[in-house]
Amino acid sequence: MKSGGVMAGQILNYGSVIASGKTKDIVVNGNNPSTVFMQFRDDITAGDGAKHDVVEGKAMLDWQVNKNIFELLARKGVPTHYINSPMAMVALVHRLQTKINLEVVSRRVATGSILQRDSSVTEGDYYKKVTVEFYYKDDGLHDPKLDDAHIEALIANKKNGWWWVKMKEINHQVFAVLESAFAHFGIQLVDFKLEYGIVHNEILLIDEITGGSFRLWPFAEGVTALNGTNGNVMDQLNPKGRLDKDIYRHGGSLD
Ligand code: 5GP
Repeated sequence: MKSGGVMAGQILNYGSVIASGKTKDIVVNGNNPSTVFMQFRDDITAGDGAKHDVVEGKAMLDWQVNKNIFELLARKGVPTHYINSPMAMVALVHRLQTKINLEVVSRRVATGSILQRDSSVTEGDYYKKVTVEFYYKDDGLHDPKLDDAHIEALIANKKNGWWWVKMKEINHQVFAVLESAFAHFGIQLVDFKLEYGIVHNEILLIDEITGGSFRLWPFAEGVTALNGTNGNVMDQLNPKGRLDKDIYRHGGSLD
């Protein structure tokens, strides 16, 4: 257990709710105010909250997926806010000094919003080097993308330029770890969205990583790893068998 952790079975000392997001609450840890509890709920949303349902058991599933992923990332040395998961549907994390209001998206295979933004891209195009895009996190504005020239200017800023470099570096590291982990199950990590914050002046991966954070497409029959040499890998994948929140975003059954 990392320092500041709470042992499994220990009674949790819940303080006040400091934030209530679309799918979880952030609650002060009464025994250690430098940490907070992330309490998962059964809510599922899409379209920046425009679509909302409650699915019994989702909080438990999200909690388990989040726990498995953050424990794997800890073993791989990725700097994150995660401490432990002291009881079902609750994760204990470091309280942030600064939350960075960005969504940092990486892609191996082109699909989703990139197809609307770039007409030269065809669904299934393979990125030899995983991409990194920054979106300003604001539901009201529908999370607009920051343009590359703007990012370059931010990186050039002596004071906080290193933040952006560090976020890109962590996005690449996490993509490599998760892509390889899912490939063992015959699944391709298509893309994901991560978030970052600052604790003790260090950039940490924060938030949850669950079925709503990424796209997961099984390999097509007979495929064990993607071969991107032809530029497009659509025929090596089975998007109809997807295992992520796009099922809900596209209006599929809640089951
Ligand atoms: P796209 O930009 O193609 O819509 O999404 C790229 C990836 O980021 C997908 O894996 C998607 O699940 C994730 N993503 C994008 N925006 C959000 C968001 O606002 N919330 C969550 N949870 N994931 C997002």
